[in-house]
Amino acid sequence: MLRITELRLPIDHPPESLRAAIVRRLALAPEQLADFTVFRRGYDARKGLNFVYTVDCSLNDVAAEADVLRRFADDRHVGPTPDMHYRFVARAPEGAPRPLVVGFGPCGIFAALVLAQMGFRPLVLERGKTVRERAKDTWRLWRGHELDPESNVQFGEGGAGTFSDGKLHSQIKDPKHHGRKVLTEFVRAGAPEEILYLGKPHIGTFRLVSMVEKMRAEIESLGGEIRFRARVDDLLIEDGHVRGVILADGAEIRADHIILALGHSARDTFEMLHRRGVFMEPKPFSVGFRIEHPQALIDRARLGKYAGHPLMGAADYKLVHHAGNGRAVYSFCMCPGGTVVAATSEAGRVVTNGMSQYSRAEHNANAGIVVGITPTDYPGGPLAGIALQRTLEARAFDLGGGNYDAPVQRVGDFLAGRPSTAPGEVAPSYKPGVRYTNLASALPDYAIAAIREAIPAFARQIPGFDMHDAVLTGVETRTSSPLRIRRGDDLQSVNVRGLYPAGEGAGYAGGILSAGVDGIRAAEAVARMIVGADEIAALT
Ligand SMILES: Cc1cc2nc3c(=O)[nH]c(=O)nc-3n(C[C@H](O)[C@H](O)[C@H](O)COP(=O)(O)OP(=O)(O)OC[C@H]3O[C@@H](n4cnc5c(N)ncnc54)[C@H](O)[C@@H]3O)c2cc1C
Repeated sequence: MLRITELRLPIDHPPESLRAAIVRRLALAPEQLADFTVFRRGYDARKGLNFVYTVDCSLNDVAAEADVLRRFADDRHVGPTPDMHYRFVARAPEGAPRPLVVGFGPCGIFAALVLAQMGFRPLVLERGKTVRERAKDTWRLWRGHELDPESNVQFGEGGAGTFSDGKLHSQIKDPKHHGRKVLTEFVRAGAPEEILYLGKPHIGTFRLVSMVEKMRAEIESLGGEIRFRARVDDLLIEDGHVRGVILADGAEIRADHIILALGHSARDTFEMLHRRGVFMEPKPFSVGFRIEHPQALIDRARLGKYAGHPLMGAADYKLVHHAGNGRAVYSFCMCPGGTVVAATSEAGRVVTNGMSQYSRAEHNANAGIVVGITPTDYPGGPLAGIALQRTLEARAFDLGGGNYDAPVQRVGDFLAGRPSTAPGEVAPSYKPGVRYTNLASALPDYAIAAIREAIPAFARQIPGFDMHDAVLTGVETRTSSPLRIRRGDDLQSVNVRGLYPAGEGAGYAGGILSAGVDGIRAAEAVARMIVGADEIAALT
């Protein structure tokens, strides 16, 4: 196979011209090109609007491929296709012990899936409900101001990213093709194939629901088991080694290998782990607001005359500003053509986040505008970040009127330091509802000052970003885990053997893709421990 990078074609090129472009680029006779697949497609709007392809192609005979490699030896955009296959590290031996996976978000799903595919029959314990039941509970908050603390946007089958935009970009390096494995499994479960090659793929919330169900079915068909409404409330630790868990209903389950894939909102579980002495430390995270603009404004700024072009879709943005008070302000989890969602898992608190459907066709664009904070802002040990999150979320609940409506403010009023009293041109999308107010007391003063400085600075990159009627909705507090459960090179807790903290909650991932990758790595670490390094070395 040969790989060509940087192959440019105008975005409205007919499909067959890609084949012709490959033939031309490699100076082949047309019949020599047997087949090709698109490995990546991005776009470049600098000189006209072009798709920029990376393609893998096979020729009709090996000698012709060798000839191309010789002719293009000095051309860095033509070469052999690298091997992208994910390989399992082990096979489960007969009678292998059954590992536990706690949590069935992307990290737990991929940990369980890969364990099952290797022949270990994992038992998954998930505190929430199946994804369909959970969707109904989540809608009860969004439509009816009614929160179920065990079944919501954060908790339940699929984890935190189920009701999301399903963005799958990640900056992680991928030498062992874990990221590719995640994307490939998503496609097998029903994601559009384009996620394998688009530069910034996304799935949208609607499909994620059925994909999660398909992945559960595969784990079960391989001998795994998933128990819902099974909240882990305690750990059994003997002589520095975990030996099992105790569930909320008092049931005890023994296991010597436990992957903790808890997500960043399992505050009660973090408290329990801390009480049990599992080593953890505070970690930086970010707090801020969601901002909403008309999507058309973002499209105009990012795509110029190509705004609204059907092949371009709704435009996104990524912004950073270093404020005079030393704080970094940045856009977080931008959702083109999406909605702002109520994302609390605790009673008496308001938390925002964003989601989109695959079509990204809603009227508004939204993103978190958040300020980086560090443990010096919340001294007091590993759980102090959670205490700060709770304080801010409770304040937002009060500012919103105490019924899960969110506090909102028009950007012009926020910048001028006066309360908003009525809606403007941009209608907030947060459900169940909003209350116009002054957000100045919703975050620490340094964060408010930094955001006040950042918004006009962002408007220099996206004209109109500071439009008077853009809407800020408070508060965005669950940007990542406020703590890290320390683990060693073997991915086990540094002081409790057999415990594998993984994913976003443990501080090792920051999104769906990276959480899935970390789940695979945790599964591999468990397999290595069970099978033994010598056996594995003999296999490879
Ligand atoms: C609204 C929203 C939109 C998002 N959009 C995107 C996006 O577009 N792209 C992206 O990459 N990321 C997005 N994210 C972030 C992404 O969802 C997370 O990074 C990812 O889900 C983390 O995966 P995880 O498996 O580590 O944790 P989680 O997905 O949080 O899963 C943890 C699971 O553990 C369970 N659990 C917790 N405690 C216990 C216990 N004691 N016993 C049993 N089970 C327990 C929970 O119920 C949960 O199901 C979004 C998040 C939200 C909330």
